[in-house]
Amino acid sequence: MGIRDQELARLQKYAEGLGIKVVWSKNSSSKYGAMWVLDQANNVELHMYTWNSASKTLLILNFLHELAHHLAYVHQGRTLSEPLVKALNHQVTETANKKHRELIYKVEVSDSSYRKTIAHEVGLRISEAKLDMDIAVDDFIYYTYWQENRFPKLPEIRKFKKQWKEKNNA
Ligand SMILES: [Zn+2]
Repeated sequence: MGIRDQELARLQKYAEGLGIKVVWSKNSSSKYGAMWVLDQANNVELHMYTWNSASKTLLILNFLHELAHHLAYVHQGRTLSEPLVKALNHQVTETANKKHRELIYKVEVSDSSYRKTIAHEVGLRISEAKLDMDIAVDDFIYYTYWQENRFPKLPEIRKFKKQWKEKNNA
């Protein structure tokens, strides 16, 4: 088992230790790389999607992204605010207005601060710079969503990454 596979297995154990059921699916039609799902009975599932061109590092970053949402949820006493639930439901049905999208953006940015804690706890070898860039990319993605009600396309994300690397000497 390669190092990245071991790290994915450790993330899975970590998630299961927090009471999360991790569900993997291949080639899903979801436009998200992963999803944190809370059901009516307060059970949490983490939906992880894989596809042929997805690197192990990308899967690890997606895993961290969703686990960070979970940690934020745990730190808030395992509750989600009413406005956030509303905004997320609107996101799913693509009916979110600018206020809903602003809240989603703010939660994305604030929850992302947990990613480094988890990476450290699980002992991931991923570099600080890679994590910083991933957090910056998500900030860019959700800022675009807030402002323009759309997610940036792949070329825009590539351009953002390139500029970020130049700016941060990464
Ligand atoms: Zn997120």
